[in-house]
Amino acid sequence: MQTFDWIVVGNGLVGAAASYELARQGLSVLLVDQHLTPANATRYSYGGIPYWAGTCDLTRTLCQEGIAKHRQLSAELGFETQFRELDLLLTVAPDDDLQALAAEYAQFATPPRFIDHAEAQALEPLLTGPAVAGAFTVRHGHVSPVAVVSAYNQAFQRLGGTRMIAQVTGVVRIKDRITGILTAEQAYPAQRVLVASGAFSRQLLATAGVKVPIYHTQAELIETLPAPEMTLRTLVMPAMTQRFELEAKASRPEIDDLWDEPGHEVTPSIIDGGAIQFRDHHLCLGQISHTVTGLDSSADTSASIQRLRSTLAGILPRLSTLPGHWHRCPVSFSRDGLPLVGPLSGVEGIDLMAGFNGPFVYLPPIAQRFAQAAVGQPDDLLTALSPGRFLAEA
Ligand SMILES: Cc1cc2nc3c(=O)[nH]c(=O)nc-3n(C[C@H](O)[C@H](O)[C@H](O)COP(=O)(O)OP(=O)(O)OC[C@H]3O[C@@H](n4cnc5c(N)ncnc54)[C@H](O)[C@@H]3O)c2cc1C
Repeated sequence: MQTFDWIVVGNGLVGAAASYELARQGLSVLLVDQHLTPANATRYSYGGIPYWAGTCDLTRTLCQEGIAKHRQLSAELGFETQFRELDLLLTVAPDDDLQALAAEYAQFATPPRFIDHAEAQALEPLLTGPAVAGAFTVRHGHVSPVAVVSAYNQAFQRLGGTRMIAQVTGVVRIKDRITGILTAEQAYPAQRVLVASGAFSRQLLATAGVKVPIYHTQAELIETLPAPEMTLRTLVMPAMTQRFELEAKASRPEIDDLWDEPGHEVTPSIIDGGAIQFRDHHLCLGQISHTVTGLDSSADTSASIQRLRSTLAGILPRLSTLPGHWHRCPVSFSRDGLPLVGPLSGVEGIDLMAGFNGPFVYLPPIAQRFAQAAVGQPDDLLTALSPGRFLAEA
Protein backbone atom coordinates (compact mmCIF):
# COMPACT_ATOMS: atom_id res chain seq x y z
CA MET A 1 0.00 0.00 0.00
CA GLN A 2 1.19 3.52 -0.83
CA THR A 3 2.53 5.60 2.03
CA PHE A 4 1.30 9.11 1.27
CA ASP A 5 3.41 12.15 2.13
CA TRP A 6 0.26 13.62 3.72
CA ILE A 7 -3.22 12.47 4.61
CA VAL A 8 -5.64 15.37 5.08
CA VAL A 9 -8.78 14.59 7.12
CA GLY A 10 -11.75 16.79 6.23
CA ASN A 11 -12.88 18.29 2.93
CA GLY A 12 -14.38 21.52 4.16
CA LEU A 13 -12.78 24.78 3.09
CA VAL A 14 -9.71 24.07 5.22
CA GLY A 15 -8.97 20.55 4.02
CA ALA A 16 -9.74 21.44 0.40
CA ALA A 17 -7.29 24.38 0.37
CA ALA A 18 -4.58 22.60 2.37
CA SER A 19 -4.67 19.42 0.26
CA TYR A 20 -4.41 21.47 -2.95
CA GLU A 21 -1.48 23.54 -1.67
CA LEU A 22 0.37 20.43 -0.43
CA ALA A 23 -0.12 18.73 -3.82
CA ARG A 24 1.07 21.93 -5.53
CA GLN A 25 4.37 21.51 -3.71
CA GLY A 26 4.76 18.09 -5.37
CA LEU A 27 3.72 16.05 -2.33
CA SER A 28 1.53 12.93 -2.56
CA VAL A 29 -1.71 13.63 -0.73
CA LEU A 30 -4.79 11.61 0.26
CA LEU A 31 -7.83 13.79 1.08
CA VAL A 32 -10.49 12.00 3.14
CA ASP A 33 -14.00 13.07 4.09
CA GLN A 34 -16.82 11.04 5.51
CA HIS A 35 -19.25 12.47 2.93
CA LEU A 36 -19.03 13.15 -0.81
CA THR A 37 -20.97 16.41 -0.41
CA PRO A 38 -20.70 17.19 3.30
CA ALA A 39 -23.36 19.25 5.09
CA ASN A 40 -20.56 20.99 6.96
CA ALA A 41 -19.81 24.53 8.16
CA THR A 42 -18.38 25.42 4.77
CA ARG A 43 -21.56 24.31 2.98
CA TYR A 44 -23.76 26.69 5.01
CA SER A 45 -21.32 29.58 5.26
CA TYR A 46 -22.10 33.08 3.95
CA GLY A 47 -18.73 33.00 2.12
CA GLY A 48 -17.84 36.56 3.17
CA ILE A 49 -14.22 37.74 2.92
CA PRO A 50 -13.57 40.48 5.54
CA TYR A 51 -10.31 41.67 4.05
CA TRP A 52 -10.72 45.09 5.70
CA ALA A 53 -10.69 43.60 9.19
CA GLY A 54 -7.01 43.22 10.09
CA THR A 55 -6.19 44.58 13.54
CA CYS A 56 -2.47 43.75 13.95
CA ASP A 57 0.52 43.04 11.69
CA LEU A 58 -0.35 39.35 11.51
CA THR A 59 -4.02 39.72 10.55
CA ARG A 60 -3.37 42.70 8.26
CA THR A 61 -0.78 40.67 6.35
CA LEU A 62 -3.17 37.72 6.07
CA CYS A 63 -6.04 39.99 4.94
CA GLN A 64 -3.89 41.53 2.19
CA GLU A 65 -2.61 38.16 1.03
CA GLY A 66 -6.09 36.61 1.35
CA ILE A 67 -7.86 39.10 -0.89
CA ALA A 68 -5.01 39.09 -3.42
CA LYS A 69 -5.27 35.31 -3.61
CA HIS A 70 -9.08 35.37 -4.03
CA ARG A 71 -8.87 37.92 -6.83
CA GLN A 72 -6.96 35.42 -8.94
CA LEU A 73 -8.08 32.11 -7.45
CA SER A 74 -10.56 31.21 -10.22
CA ALA A 75 -7.79 31.62 -12.79
CA GLU A 76 -5.28 29.72 -10.67
CA LEU A 77 -7.62 26.79 -10.01
CA GLY A 78 -9.26 26.79 -13.44
CA PHE A 79 -12.77 26.90 -11.95
CA GLU A 80 -15.09 29.81 -11.13
CA THR A 81 -15.24 30.53 -7.37
CA GLN A 82 -17.92 33.21 -7.99
CA PHE A 83 -15.68 35.84 -6.38
CA ARG A 84 -17.06 39.39 -6.29
CA GLU A 85 -16.77 42.48 -4.12
CA LEU A 86 -19.88 43.96 -2.55
CA ASP A 87 -20.97 46.32 0.22
CA LEU A 88 -21.11 44.87 3.70
CA LEU A 89 -23.83 46.44 5.84
CA LEU A 90 -23.35 46.06 9.58
CA THR A 91 -26.73 47.10 10.91
CA VAL A 92 -27.07 49.31 13.97
CA ALA A 93 -30.18 48.82 16.12
CA PRO A 94 -31.98 51.86 17.60
CA ASP A 95 -30.70 51.11 21.13
CA ASP A 96 -27.10 50.21 20.17
CA ASP A 97 -24.34 52.41 21.63
CA LEU A 98 -23.17 54.11 18.44
CA GLN A 99 -20.08 55.70 19.97
CA ALA A 100 -18.88 52.40 21.42
CA LEU A 101 -19.42 50.70 18.06
CA ALA A 102 -17.58 53.48 16.20
CA ALA A 103 -14.63 53.12 18.60
CA GLU A 104 -14.58 49.37 18.05
CA TYR A 105 -14.67 49.61 14.26
CA ALA A 106 -11.96 52.31 14.23
CA GLN A 107 -9.33 49.68 15.09
CA PHE A 108 -9.62 47.90 11.72
CA ALA A 109 -7.22 48.41 8.81
CA THR A 110 -10.11 49.86 6.78
CA PRO A 111 -12.66 51.09 9.31
CA PRO A 112 -16.26 50.68 8.14
CA ARG A 113 -17.97 54.10 7.96
CA PHE A 114 -21.28 54.91 9.60
CA ILE A 115 -24.23 55.78 7.36
CA ASP A 116 -27.68 56.80 8.48
CA HIS A 117 -30.87 54.89 7.85
CA ALA A 118 -31.67 56.63 4.56
CA GLU A 119 -28.19 56.05 3.12
CA ALA A 120 -28.24 52.41 4.27
CA GLN A 121 -31.58 51.94 2.51
CA ALA A 122 -30.23 53.52 -0.64
CA LEU A 123 -27.45 50.89 -0.63
CA GLU A 124 -29.83 48.10 0.32
CA PRO A 125 -33.48 48.80 -0.55
CA LEU A 126 -34.61 45.63 1.26
CA LEU A 127 -33.42 47.06 4.58
CA THR A 128 -36.83 48.30 5.67
CA GLY A 129 -37.19 46.76 9.14
CA PRO A 130 -37.74 48.78 12.34
CA ALA A 131 -34.65 47.25 14.01
CA VAL A 132 -32.32 49.29 11.77
CA ALA A 133 -31.29 52.82 12.75
CA GLY A 134 -28.29 52.97 10.43
CA ALA A 135 -25.30 50.84 9.47
CA PHE A 136 -21.54 50.69 9.21
CA THR A 137 -20.42 49.90 5.71
CA VAL A 138 -17.23 48.75 3.98
CA ARG A 139 -16.32 46.83 0.84
CA HIS A 140 -16.23 43.07 1.47
CA GLY A 141 -15.27 40.07 -0.64
CA HIS A 142 -17.65 37.22 -1.40
CA VAL A 143 -17.46 33.75 -2.92
CA SER A 144 -19.66 30.70 -3.19
CA PRO A 145 -18.28 28.36 -0.50
CA VAL A 146 -19.37 25.29 -2.46
CA ALA A 147 -17.72 26.59 -5.64
CA VAL A 148 -14.46 27.34 -3.81
CA VAL A 149 -14.26 23.79 -2.43
CA SER A 150 -15.06 22.36 -5.88
CA ALA A 151 -12.39 24.57 -7.42
CA TYR A 152 -9.75 23.46 -4.92
CA ASN A 153 -10.81 19.79 -5.25
CA GLN A 154 -10.64 19.79 -9.04
CA ALA A 155 -7.23 21.48 -9.11
CA PHE A 156 -6.04 19.03 -6.41
CA GLN A 157 -7.08 16.06 -8.52
CA ARG A 158 -5.46 17.52 -11.63
CA LEU A 159 -2.21 17.66 -9.64
CA GLY A 160 -2.52 13.92 -8.95
CA GLY A 161 -4.12 14.15 -5.49
CA THR A 162 -6.26 11.23 -4.31
CA ARG A 163 -9.70 11.59 -2.72
CA MET A 164 -11.45 9.02 -0.57
CA ILE A 165 -14.88 8.97 1.05
CA ALA A 166 -14.61 7.27 4.44
CA GLN A 167 -15.10 8.10 8.07
CA VAL A 168 -11.78 8.35 9.87
CA THR A 169 -12.27 6.52 13.16
CA GLY A 170 -8.86 7.33 14.60
CA VAL A 171 -5.18 7.74 13.87
CA VAL A 172 -2.47 5.07 14.02
CA ARG A 173 -0.22 5.88 16.96
CA ILE A 174 3.01 3.99 17.56
CA LYS A 175 4.53 5.31 20.78
CA ASP A 176 4.79 9.06 20.19
CA ARG A 177 4.42 9.00 16.43
CA ILE A 178 1.32 9.11 14.25
CA THR A 179 1.87 6.94 11.19
CA GLY A 180 -1.50 7.10 9.45
CA ILE A 181 -5.26 7.00 9.82
CA LEU A 182 -7.83 4.34 10.57
CA THR A 183 -11.19 3.76 8.94
CA ALA A 184 -13.66 0.98 9.72
CA GLU A 185 -12.07 -1.08 6.91
CA GLN A 186 -8.34 -0.50 7.18
CA ALA A 187 -5.35 1.65 8.08
CA TYR A 188 -3.77 4.11 5.60
CA PRO A 189 -0.11 5.02 6.17
CA ALA A 190 1.33 8.52 5.76
CA GLN A 191 4.45 10.47 6.64
CA ARG A 192 2.20 13.12 8.21
CA VAL A 193 -1.49 13.54 8.95
CA LEU A 194 -3.26 16.92 8.81
CA VAL A 195 -6.44 17.09 10.88
CA ALA A 196 -8.66 19.63 9.10
CA SER A 197 -11.92 18.33 10.45
CA GLY A 198 -13.37 21.57 11.80
CA ALA A 199 -15.52 21.02 14.88
CA PHE A 200 -14.77 17.28 14.76
CA SER A 201 -11.03 17.83 15.26
CA ARG A 202 -11.09 17.79 19.05
CA GLN A 203 -12.95 14.48 19.17
CA LEU A 204 -10.76 12.88 16.50
CA LEU A 205 -7.54 13.89 18.24
CA ALA A 206 -8.85 12.63 21.56
CA THR A 207 -8.81 9.11 20.07
CA ALA A 208 -5.01 9.47 19.92
CA GLY A 209 -4.80 10.82 23.45
CA VAL A 210 -4.15 14.37 22.22
CA LYS A 211 -6.16 17.22 23.74
CA VAL A 212 -6.58 20.49 21.81
CA PRO A 213 -8.39 23.70 22.80
CA ILE A 214 -10.86 23.65 19.89
CA TYR A 215 -14.52 24.42 20.57
CA HIS A 216 -17.61 24.69 18.41
CA THR A 217 -20.89 26.46 18.03
CA GLN A 218 -23.89 24.74 16.53
CA ALA A 219 -24.99 27.28 13.92
CA GLU A 220 -28.60 27.34 12.73
CA LEU A 221 -29.84 29.07 9.61
CA ILE A 222 -32.51 28.97 6.93
CA GLU A 223 -31.43 28.28 3.39
CA THR A 224 -34.13 29.61 1.09
CA LEU A 225 -35.20 28.26 -2.25
CA PRO A 226 -33.89 30.31 -5.19
CA ALA A 227 -35.72 33.67 -5.11
CA PRO A 228 -34.98 35.39 -8.45
CA GLU A 229 -37.76 37.92 -7.75
CA MET A 230 -35.71 39.26 -4.80
CA THR A 231 -32.34 41.03 -5.04
CA LEU A 232 -30.28 41.44 -1.91
CA ARG A 233 -27.41 43.63 -3.10
CA THR A 234 -25.29 43.53 0.05
CA LEU A 235 -24.14 41.15 2.76
CA VAL A 236 -26.06 42.09 5.92
CA MET A 237 -24.88 41.34 9.46
CA PRO A 238 -25.32 43.13 12.80
CA ALA A 239 -22.75 45.73 13.86
CA MET A 240 -22.86 44.30 17.36
CA THR A 241 -22.03 40.67 16.65
CA GLN A 242 -22.90 38.63 19.72
CA ARG A 243 -21.11 35.51 18.53
CA PHE A 244 -17.64 36.82 19.45
CA GLU A 245 -18.64 37.38 23.07
CA LEU A 246 -20.30 33.98 23.16
CA GLU A 247 -17.12 32.32 21.87
CA ALA A 248 -14.93 34.14 24.39
CA LYS A 249 -17.15 33.05 27.30
CA ALA A 250 -17.52 29.46 26.11
CA SER A 251 -13.77 28.89 25.65
CA ARG A 252 -12.51 30.07 29.05
CA PRO A 253 -9.68 27.75 30.17
CA GLU A 254 -11.42 26.96 33.47
CA ILE A 255 -14.36 25.32 31.69
CA ASP A 256 -12.34 23.61 28.96
CA ASP A 257 -12.98 20.11 30.38
CA LEU A 258 -16.75 20.55 29.87
CA TRP A 259 -16.05 20.22 26.15
CA ASP A 260 -14.92 16.62 26.63
CA GLU A 261 -18.42 15.56 27.76
CA PRO A 262 -21.56 15.79 25.61
CA GLY A 263 -24.71 17.61 26.62
CA HIS A 264 -23.53 20.80 28.36
CA GLU A 265 -25.00 24.09 27.18
CA VAL A 266 -21.94 26.17 28.05
CA THR A 267 -23.49 29.60 27.46
CA PRO A 268 -27.02 30.67 26.43
CA SER A 269 -27.57 30.74 22.66
CA ILE A 270 -27.48 34.01 20.71
CA ILE A 271 -28.77 35.23 17.35
CA ASP A 272 -26.97 37.51 14.91
CA GLY A 273 -29.53 38.41 12.26
CA GLY A 274 -28.10 38.57 8.75
CA ALA A 275 -28.47 37.45 5.16
CA ILE A 276 -26.62 36.90 1.89
CA GLN A 277 -27.83 36.00 -1.59
CA PHE A 278 -25.85 33.75 -3.91
CA ARG A 279 -25.53 33.78 -7.68
CA ASP A 280 -28.15 31.04 -8.09
CA HIS A 281 -30.53 33.41 -6.21
CA HIS A 282 -30.90 31.33 -3.03
CA LEU A 283 -30.30 33.10 0.28
CA CYS A 284 -28.88 32.15 3.65
CA LEU A 285 -30.79 33.71 6.54
CA GLY A 286 -28.93 33.39 9.79
CA GLN A 287 -27.80 32.76 12.31
CA ILE A 288 -28.35 31.28 15.75
CA SER A 289 -25.28 30.03 17.62
CA HIS A 290 -25.46 27.47 20.42
CA THR A 291 -22.50 26.34 22.49
CA VAL A 292 -23.62 22.80 23.25
CA THR A 293 -20.88 20.26 23.85
CA GLY A 294 -20.87 17.02 21.88
CA LEU A 295 -21.64 16.92 18.18
CA ASP A 296 -25.01 15.17 18.17
CA SER A 297 -27.19 17.50 20.24
CA SER A 298 -30.86 17.83 19.27
CA ALA A 299 -32.59 21.08 18.32
CA ASP A 300 -36.06 22.60 18.71
CA THR A 301 -36.38 23.19 14.99
CA SER A 302 -39.67 25.07 14.92
CA ALA A 303 -38.63 27.43 17.74
CA SER A 304 -35.38 28.14 15.87
CA ILE A 305 -37.16 28.83 12.59
CA GLN A 306 -39.53 31.24 14.34
CA ARG A 307 -36.60 32.99 16.07
CA LEU A 308 -34.70 33.36 12.80
CA ARG A 309 -37.72 34.65 10.90
CA SER A 310 -38.81 37.12 13.58
CA THR A 311 -35.27 38.54 13.88
CA LEU A 312 -35.06 38.92 10.10
CA ALA A 313 -38.47 40.62 10.09
CA GLY A 314 -36.93 43.47 12.09
CA ILE A 315 -34.14 43.96 9.53
CA LEU A 316 -35.10 42.59 6.11
CA PRO A 317 -38.87 41.96 6.36
CA ARG A 318 -39.38 40.86 2.77
CA LEU A 319 -36.83 38.09 3.17
CA SER A 320 -38.17 36.82 6.47
CA THR A 321 -41.08 34.93 4.90
CA LEU A 322 -39.24 33.31 1.97
CA PRO A 323 -39.73 29.55 1.84
CA GLY A 324 -36.68 27.57 2.84
CA HIS A 325 -35.15 24.81 4.90
CA TRP A 326 -33.64 24.95 8.37
CA HIS A 327 -30.11 23.60 8.77
CA ARG A 328 -27.69 23.15 11.62
CA CYS A 329 -23.92 22.64 11.42
CA PRO A 330 -21.04 22.70 13.90
CA VAL A 331 -18.47 25.49 13.41
CA SER A 332 -15.09 25.32 15.16
CA PHE A 333 -13.48 28.25 16.95
CA SER A 334 -10.47 28.92 19.15
CA ARG A 335 -9.94 30.82 22.39
CA ASP A 336 -8.23 33.87 20.87
CA GLY A 337 -9.95 34.29 17.50
CA LEU A 338 -6.96 32.94 15.56
CA PRO A 339 -6.80 29.44 14.10
CA LEU A 340 -4.70 26.58 15.44
CA VAL A 341 -2.26 25.70 12.67
CA GLY A 342 0.75 23.41 12.87
CA PRO A 343 2.28 20.45 14.66
CA LEU A 344 0.90 19.21 17.96
CA SER A 345 3.27 18.95 20.87
CA GLY A 346 4.05 15.61 22.51
CA VAL A 347 3.38 13.59 19.37
CA GLU A 348 5.18 13.44 16.01
CA GLY A 349 3.72 13.20 12.53
CA ILE A 350 0.49 15.13 13.03
CA ASP A 351 -0.66 18.71 12.39
CA LEU A 352 -3.88 20.57 13.05
CA MET A 353 -5.60 23.29 11.01
CA ALA A 354 -8.89 24.32 12.63
CA GLY A 355 -10.65 26.95 14.72
CA PHE A 356 -10.74 29.69 12.10
CA ASN A 357 -12.63 32.90 12.64
CA GLY A 358 -12.89 34.24 9.10
CA PRO A 359 -11.35 31.35 7.17
CA PHE A 360 -12.44 32.74 3.82
CA VAL A 361 -9.91 35.55 4.13
CA TYR A 362 -7.22 33.88 6.25
CA LEU A 363 -7.14 30.37 4.90
CA PRO A 364 -5.88 30.73 1.30
CA PRO A 365 -2.61 32.37 2.39
CA ILE A 366 -2.26 30.16 5.48
CA ALA A 367 -2.74 26.97 3.44
CA GLN A 368 -0.14 28.18 0.93
CA ARG A 369 2.36 29.10 3.65
CA PHE A 370 1.69 25.80 5.46
CA ALA A 371 2.50 23.79 2.33
CA GLN A 372 5.64 25.82 1.66
CA ALA A 373 6.76 25.17 5.24
CA ALA A 374 6.06 21.45 4.68
CA VAL A 375 8.75 21.41 1.99
CA GLY A 376 11.28 23.23 4.12
CA GLN A 377 10.57 26.98 3.98
CA PRO A 378 10.34 28.15 7.63
CA ASP A 379 7.58 30.70 8.23
CA ASP A 380 7.48 32.99 11.29
CA LEU A 381 3.86 33.91 10.65
CA LEU A 382 2.82 30.27 11.11
CA THR A 383 4.72 30.11 14.40
CA ALA A 384 2.27 32.68 15.80
CA LEU A 385 -0.63 30.34 14.96
CA SER A 386 0.94 27.25 16.54
CA PRO A 387 -1.39 25.20 18.78
CA GLY A 388 1.49 25.32 21.29
CA ARG A 389 0.60 28.94 22.14
CA PHE A 390 -2.06 27.64 24.53
CA LEU A 391 0.24 25.20 26.33
CA ALA A 392 1.04 27.57 29.16
CA GLU A 393 -2.68 27.75 30.00
CA ALA A 394 -3.30 23.98 29.79
C1 LIG B 1 -24.10 30.55 8.78
C2 LIG B 1 -22.60 30.67 8.70
C3 LIG B 1 -22.03 31.78 8.11
C4 LIG B 1 -20.64 31.89 8.03
N1 LIG B 1 -20.13 32.96 7.37
C5 LIG B 1 -18.79 33.06 7.20
C6 LIG B 1 -18.26 34.12 6.43
O1 LIG B 1 -18.98 34.96 5.90
N2 LIG B 1 -16.90 34.20 6.29
C7 LIG B 1 -16.07 33.28 6.87
O2 LIG B 1 -14.85 33.39 6.71
N3 LIG B 1 -16.56 32.24 7.58
C8 LIG B 1 -17.89 32.11 7.77
N4 LIG B 1 -18.41 31.06 8.46
C9 LIG B 1 -17.47 30.12 9.11
C10 LIG B 1 -16.89 29.15 8.10
O3 LIG B 1 -17.89 28.69 7.26
C11 LIG B 1 -16.24 27.96 8.82
O4 LIG B 1 -15.36 28.42 9.81
C12 LIG B 1 -15.45 27.11 7.84
O5 LIG B 1 -16.24 26.75 6.75
C13 LIG B 1 -14.93 25.88 8.53
O6 LIG B 1 -14.26 25.08 7.58
P1 LIG B 1 -13.59 23.73 8.02
O7 LIG B 1 -13.04 23.11 6.81
O8 LIG B 1 -12.71 23.95 9.19
O9 LIG B 1 -14.79 22.84 8.64
P2 LIG B 1 -16.01 22.12 7.92
O10 LIG B 1 -16.51 22.89 6.77
O11 LIG B 1 -16.99 21.80 9.00
O12 LIG B 1 -15.40 20.77 7.36
C14 LIG B 1 -14.95 19.74 8.19
C15 LIG B 1 -15.04 18.45 7.40
O13 LIG B 1 -14.44 17.39 8.13
C16 LIG B 1 -15.17 16.22 7.85
N5 LIG B 1 -14.93 15.26 8.92
C17 LIG B 1 -15.09 15.48 10.24
N6 LIG B 1 -14.77 14.39 10.94
C18 LIG B 1 -14.40 13.46 10.03
C19 LIG B 1 -13.97 12.11 10.15
N7 LIG B 1 -13.86 11.49 11.34
N8 LIG B 1 -13.69 11.42 9.01
C20 LIG B 1 -13.80 12.02 7.79
N9 LIG B 1 -14.20 13.31 7.64
C21 LIG B 1 -14.49 14.02 8.74
C22 LIG B 1 -16.63 16.69 7.82
O14 LIG B 1 -17.46 15.78 7.10
C23 LIG B 1 -16.49 18.04 7.14
O15 LIG B 1 -16.70 17.95 5.76
C24 LIG B 1 -19.80 30.89 8.56
C25 LIG B 1 -20.36 29.75 9.13
C26 LIG B 1 -21.76 29.62 9.19
C27 LIG B 1 -22.33 28.37 9.76
